[in-house]
Amino acid sequence: MDPRHAAPAETAWHALEAQQAIELLHSKHGGLDEPEAAARLQQYGANRLPPAKNRSPLRRLLQQFHNVLLYMMLAASGVTALLEHWVDTGVILAVVLINALIGFIQEGKAEHALEAIRDLLSLHAMVLRDGERREIPAEQLVPGDLVMLASGDKVPADLRLLRVKNFNVEEAALTGESLPVEKTIAHSTVDALLGDRRCMAYSGTLVSSGQALGLVVATGSATELGHIGSLLQRVQTLSTPLLRQIGGFSRWLTLALLIFALVTFALGTLWRGQDAGEMFMLVVALTVAAIPEGLPAIMTVILALGVQRMARQNAIVRRLPAVETLGSVTLICSDKTGTLTRNEMTVQRLISAQRIVDVGGVGYAPEGGFHVDGSAVAADQALLEVGRAALLCNDARLQQDADGHWLLHGDPTEGALCTLALKCGLDPLAEQTKLPRSDAIPFESEHRFMATLHHDHRGHGVIYLKGAPERLLEMCSRQRGAAGDQPLNPDFWRRQATDLAAHGLRLLAIATRTADAEQRSLSFADVEHGFTLLALFGIIDPPREEAITAVAECRRAGITVKMITGDHVETARAIGAQLGIGIDRPALTGAEIELLDERRMREVLPNVEVFARASPEHKLRLVQAMQASGEVVAMTGDGVNDAPALKRADVGVAMGRKGTEAAKEAAEVVLTDDNFATIAGAVREGRAIYDNLKKFILFVLPTNGGEALIVIAAILFQLTLPLTPAQVLWINMVTSITLGLALAFEPSEQGLMSRPPRAPGEALLSGFFIWRVLLVSLLMMAAALGLFLWELQRGTPLESARTMAVNTVVMCEMFYLFSSRHIFASVLSREGLLGNPMVLLAIAACFALQLLYTYAPPLQQLFGSTALAAYEWLRVLLAGVLLFSVAELEKALIRRFRLHPQAVDRH
Ligand code: ADP
Ligand code: MG
Repeated sequence: MDPRHAAPAETAWHALEAQQAIELLHSKHGGLDEPEAAARLQQYGANRLPPAKNRSPLRRLLQQFHNVLLYMMLAASGVTALLEHWVDTGVILAVVLINALIGFIQEGKAEHALEAIRDLLSLHAMVLRDGERREIPAEQLVPGDLVMLASGDKVPADLRLLRVKNFNVEEAALTGESLPVEKTIAHSTVDALLGDRRCMAYSGTLVSSGQALGLVVATGSATELGHIGSLLQRVQTLSTPLLRQIGGFSRWLTLALLIFALVTFALGTLWRGQDAGEMFMLVVALTVAAIPEGLPAIMTVILALGVQRMARQNAIVRRLPAVETLGSVTLICSDKTGTLTRNEMTVQRLISAQRIVDVGGVGYAPEGGFHVDGSAVAADQALLEVGRAALLCNDARLQQDADGHWLLHGDPTEGALCTLALKCGLDPLAEQTKLPRSDAIPFESEHRFMATLHHDHRGHGVIYLKGAPERLLEMCSRQRGAAGDQPLNPDFWRRQATDLAAHGLRLLAIATRTADAEQRSLSFADVEHGFTLLALFGIIDPPREEAITAVAECRRAGITVKMITGDHVETARAIGAQLGIGIDRPALTGAEIELLDERRMREVLPNVEVFARASPEHKLRLVQAMQASGEVVAMTGDGVNDAPALKRADVGVAMGRKGTEAAKEAAEVVLTDDNFATIAGAVREGRAIYDNLKKFILFVLPTNGGEALIVIAAILFQLTLPLTPAQVLWINMVTSITLGLALAFEPSEQGLMSRPPRAPGEALLSGFFIWRVLLVSLLMMAAALGLFLWELQRGTPLESARTMAVNTVVMCEMFYLFSSRHIFASVLSREGLLGNPMVLLAIAACFALQLLYTYAPPLQQLFGSTALAAYEWLRVLLAGVLLFSVAELEKALIRRFRLHPQAVDRH
């Protein structure tokens, strides 16, 4: 271990008093100052764990050979060596090696791509430095830093807690205990176990509720997590259900081949009385012909390329299998605020007991005045009091950058209030100094309010409370009138609220009451009643243009979009209508969800698209109910309490910007732009990837099938072998390094988002698949074997006929590659033939290799090939065209007679 970390790590921080710990690390209550922090960063190094030990390159290379298919090949090469067929041995070994190399390189690229994506999800920490709150990358934390934690955060380093408030931490990452542990600041005994050190918060654990302030005592590999190194092993396995299905298929195929080869060998030698050595070479040819060696490696590449494309489009896939699930999503449940809407909030209207004030201006810039009934008014005492409350019961901060733009740090809802206060002419710093905050209850989606306690310098206390109007009306008994306080008139406020909400405005109410000078902390009991309602705000948060388009796109793709929000039901409906969600349908509120039992729920759900005033527990119930009715659900979330719903959903989608770490950990996909349109894009990409995997398999299997059939036919009918084992291997090698790879770069299909989602659990190797593979295999065999036999009959020398057979198989594959670009659609169009440049490139490369095979003397020597005449090439070409025509005809028939649900006839 790094000696610099040694000293702090040996201290039993959990057994020290908080003050002792602070002194030991030479920290202070305002935190470190920047120069000191920079010096310590030099001394202790960045707060990051050493990268997970990657498998060594040699080990990775060796693992490429660990594959039943390659074992078979190696065995075959051993046998050919025994029989002293050195060329075959050499070629088999070359193919095995080349395949392992391709696998090695591609897998390396794939792992690299995934690693780069993981780095995009870096952690931030809120620290106190120079007496100020600052958000810094967690990597820059040093021992002695003071870190502030709130629910949903991931603890960024090992901390000795200094201040806690209902602070609970889930330490499963460290102790395996999944129930949250309540933390205190009292020290424990020296020999306390990790899980019992209540005054410590350890790096990598998750804050499940409450807040805390902690002193960093260890960073990087000096943390407990660094000692265990358990999370280091979180290297993604490059596996998905489909890849496993293919893995299973290849094992099954190998076994079948082995049995088949043995039976053929036995029948040939015992029954037909053939020479064992010759028979053996036939069997080897058959085996190598039928084994799709390239399949697993290239499937991994297709996945990795897709995941990379998604990351470029702001969707980061945390768990690879989600790529496939995304393609079969039938239902997306989305948050409203920030995902479907822009999250740039502006207070447009302010309603107090005596008047309605319209607020001018858009965005966070404090430009715009106040109007009542169309005439301008100045910020009077009443407005100032509302502005002050809005400013103080607030954690957001506005900042003007060098270009004069106003930047928001914090929650947009609160940012809108900051702007309002600035429009009143209030100075945030001056107000905060006059009435410093003693305590707060932060906003959470569960209780829908936030409260702060303040004391002025003479000790007078005041509590400010803001939140959803329905909640606040329960807590208020009076309202602020022109001539002082009056009894509350709930009906008036409800009417006003509904009216604002019907315009699609987000609602927020604000209230206040006095507090005792002695009261220094705030609990839920303190905010139950006795408040005076000051005002109601109507906040505009327009829908995102791209979300409107994306919702429509999803609808065309057979995907239902539902909106789940904590907002007022009327606001939700109004915004939903603008987005095309839930028009002319009932909306359901959280309270109504509570009243439904499972059965009723499943009955009403299909008709409801807008869920309002819903809390995270409702989300969980909704996901479960929707899954129970057979939907594949993608669910978005950002808070700690969204984690169970995200985990439960088929694809959990967390917000990268406003989302908590807890939500990101639970999610399969993280959106770096929090945008609904990105989810729709990810679904499209998921479908495209699955398509490409299918296309690739449909391309590769008939290739092997065709070759195998040629050899089988030769054995059955005791014909001269049209392809020697070495030649078969040549074909496999050439086509898998050129043609096969091209499909990995296939762009998505045009009609991708206008067809229904794939049926969940759809088996890949369906009846249709088997039919297609058989058909093309037979065509390939017919073309190559037919031409070969015809040539022999015409008296063509064996060498030429074999060279033609090899070229025919490759030519057929080139043509079939075009056809494989679309599973059902015709490729007889400009797009079909030229749409993927990689296909053209691969064909050119493959053709060049075939010319070498045919004309280069060393290769002629090795493979027994020979130069072909122009008319011979013409026949080879004709064979390819023939296969292509039949393949396209089959698609046309399937489209014409709708023989497959996904075949859409676009004529
Ligand atoms: P959503 O994110 O779906 O819009 P939230 O749970 O964030 O829903 O908000 C629900 C309600 O809580 C809002 O309509 C608003 O009245 C209130 N609210 C939102 N943010 C805050 C906040 N920072 N402080 C107090 N109340 C808030
Ligand atoms: Mg919100």
